[in-house]
Amino acid sequence: RAKKHLVQNFEYYDAQMETMMMERLVMLRSLRSDFQRNKLQLWYQPQVCLKTGKVIGLEALLRWPQTEGGFVSPATFIPLAEYSGLIIEIGDWVLQQACLMLQQLTHAGYTGVRIAVNVSMPQFRHHRFVQSVIDCIEQYQVEPARLELEITESVVMDDPKAVIAALEQLKAFGIKVAIDDFGIGFSSLSYLQQLPLDRIKIDRTFIKDFQGVTGSLIAETIVHLGQKLGLATIAEGIETAEQQQLVAAMGCEEGQGFLYAQAMPATELFQYLKTTKS
Ligand code: C2E
Ligand code: MG
Ligand code: MG
Ligand code: MG
Repeated sequence: RAKKHLVQNFEYYDAQMETMMMERLVMLRSLRSDFQRNKLQLWYQPQVCLKTGKVIGLEALLRWPQTEGGFVSPATFIPLAEYSGLIIEIGDWVLQQACLMLQQLTHAGYTGVRIAVNVSMPQFRHHRFVQSVIDCIEQYQVEPARLELEITESVVMDDPKAVIAALEQLKAFGIKVAIDDFGIGFSSLSYLQQLPLDRIKIDRTFIKDFQGVTGSLIAETIVHLGQKLGLATIAEGIETAEQQQLVAAMGCEEGQGFLYAQAMPATELFQYLKTTKS
């Protein structure tokens, strides 16, 4: 009896798994086709100096609009793009868009605003990655220090040597590097020291948990770690004035979150910047 039950469970699981894989395959096909038809959009979320309230940066975030309205979450389609390798082409496009936007920002007089771009592991593994970033910067005549690459701990831990080597080349060129979602990825602290970083992004979970002591304790520890290592810190996911205050009191320099603004399309960005200090 027990055996039969097991088999039934397995069959059920198997069918579910097959449906899931089919769904992903359909989604991947649709993502590829929408990307090729130029349907993906790059949106921008402000990053703010906690001391002055000025906008000092923008994080570029991919958006995939659906014909029936709404968006597929990047948390859903980015892993698909990574798994399939499509992230190489998409990531290239993201970099191009971000550099073009930096050029437009410069022309509009916003020379103090940088752009942060998320980079996935397959991009690092690609032999032309470093050169393609440098090419992009030169093509759009961007000041390298205004482009920041965001990498997660999992990217680093996947192949630390390769990532460190690539980052060192990019750093030598003047490009900035931030470690994203810091604190949730169990990365070894010894790698943190080896990485040529400029900034630590404190993961949103530690900012969210300020009611309890643990979140704020961890956030504060990360800020101090940054100070010891000579790295700037930015807090992700600031939603309330109280969170902003607490984070600033810890010595964190910058913040990003819905308190300031959600990500917005390029068409709204200049209007936003006009009405905000930058
Ligand atoms: P991430 O890099 O950690 O980006 C920050 C995410 O937090 C964004 O979600 C942003 O909309 C969200 N967020 C910002 N402030 C708040 C807040 O105050 N409250 C809450 N609840 N959320 C906030 P999004 O845009 O859905 O992106 C999810 C993830 O997808 C990103 O996390 C990043 O890992 C990935 N992603 C997005 N665009 C790209 C891209 O161009 N390339 C790559 N490789 N990954 C990307
Ligand atoms: Mg990010
Ligand atoms: Mg993040
Ligand atoms: Mg995060």
